[in-house]
Parts: sequence; structure tokens; C-alpha cells
Amino acid sequence: MTVVPFENLSLQKQCPVCGNNIGPSHRRFKLQKDPDVWMLKCSKCNLGTCEYIPSDNFLSGLYDPDHYAASLTSNLKLSNKLASNISNKCSFLFSSKQKISILDYGGGNGALCNALMLDLRSRYKNIKFESVVVDVYNSLDYEDISFLSVEEFDNASDKFDIVIASAVLEHLTNPKKILDKLIYLLNTDGVFYARTPYEIPLVKLNIGYKTSWPIHLHDMGPDFWEFIGNNYKDQIDFIQSKTSVIETSIMNRPIRTSIAFLLKIPSLIETSFIKNNISYNGVIWGLVGGWEVIFKKIR
Ligand SMILES: [Zn+2]
Repeated sequence: MTVVPFENLSLQKQCPVCGNNIGPSHRRFKLQKDPDVWMLKCSKCNLGTCEYIPSDNFLSGLYDPDHYAASLTSNLKLSNKLASNISNKCSFLFSSKQKISILDYGGGNGALCNALMLDLRSRYKNIKFESVVVDVYNSLDYEDISFLSVEEFDNASDKFDIVIASAVLEHLTNPKKILDKLIYLLNTDGVFYARTPYEIPLVKLNIGYKTSWPIHLHDMGPDFWEFIGNNYKDQIDFIQSKTSVIETSIMNRPIRTSIAFLLKIPSLIETSFIKNNISYNGVIWGLVGGWEVIFKKIR
């Protein structure tokens, strides 16, 4: 496990999403020892976040493409599964459009963006699709996807019909700034998709489950996304908020995949049948590891 040295850490006194004061009373479990860094949980927006944030320099070293490959980049089946779910949930977009633009923030080599375009092109033959991947390094494997660096993205103002933030918000030192911008860049009726880790309940079981610190700086589960839904309620409407798809396959990782499947069933029952009928904050069954949301921009 990577231990971040003290000189590369700075204390987070305020929650990086809602600005609420955070400190030792919000501690949940230790992310690393010597120097100790705890996972905190904000009592206002429910963001799980690290007590000390690593410096930008330290983080860019971690993401050097020579030794870092996002799991999605190497998992085509997962990309196809995610793409098909996004396509199914945004069919309302296509009734009057001739052109659909897609932004994939933190899209790596473009695998998910490409899978989504292939899926949509096979369903909507008369619509033109254009897409842009934003990332720190250009590692795109697909010629028909454009690239924008994170620095260029700061000045981007073109709007998009579909915005993807798959497994990326948890890596950012400034998740609120990026989330605000991604929502701003959505056209009215546009669709936003995010997939984030929701691991605090699993780690707290003390059965050896670990988060991906310092690659993951935050934990964003259903209660966090409910806060976001309320915070942006004039702008967005939720289409889906449920446990994320299983990342491994039964062929490659049979035991891990079976356990993940069994743990996700109670959550799917809860979000599909129970929570829809009785509204309450967060979820009762939290042993799922990841969360997935889709919402629509209403104005
Ligand atoms: Zn907060």
C-alpha cells in the first residue's frame, strides 16, 4: 500500500463539497498509519473524505500512465455493460435530435465513451454522435473521440447532451468545482452519469476490506447523492440511484464476483421496491462497495 509522507499531506478543515467544518469527531477508520490519515464522513453532505489531502504533485506521480491503468481501461466487458445501461436510461433524449454530443470526464483511453457511441449508433442510425474525453494525460485509443486536457477543460463552455463521470469524482481534490462545471455543461434534458465508491460500511465490518487510498480520496454513497439531488433540485431530476454494476466477471474472479452479487441483491431490492415506496435518508443495506447515479438536467 502506498503511504503518503507527511510533507505531501495537508489537513482538510472544511468538507470539499459543502464547506462544513470537519475534524476528529467525523472519523470513521484509518486510511494509513504513520502518518495517520483517517476517513472522515461529513455530517452535512455525507461525503466520505480523507482527513489530510495529498498534494497535487504527489497525485500526478501516482497517475503517470506508465504505471497507472484504470480498471475500466482494461475491462471491455464492463465498459459495454455500463454503456448499455446509460443508453437504456437516456432513450428520451433521441426523439428530436440530429446530433448528440458526449463528454466523458476522466475517460482515460476512451473505452467507455467508445462503447457508448457504438451502442447508441446501433440503436439510432440517423443521429450523429460526437464525443470528447477530458483527462490529465492523452491516452485515447479511438480516433473519432476528441481529447481535452484538464487545463483546457477549465475554459470549456460548449454544452453536451450526455456527461459521464465514471469512477473519477473520488480521485479529485476539488470534486465540487468539477461537479458544478459538469452540471453546468449539460444541455437542458441532458443526462449525467456517475459511478463512485461507497465503501465505508464494508470497511467498517473489519473483515479486511480496504479502500483504494490514496488513489481514492472520497467515498460517495446514496446519502451523498441525495444531498446533491436536494442541493441542485432546481436543476436536476434523478432517473436512477442504485448500487453500481459488478466490475469483475464470474469467469475471471468467480468467488469475488459471487460475493459481490450476493451483497448487491438486498440493495437492489431495497432501492427498487422499498425505498421507492417509503422515503428515508440514505439506505439501510450499505454493503455494496459502489454506487451509480443517472440524472437529467431540467433547466
Ligand atoms: Zn460536506
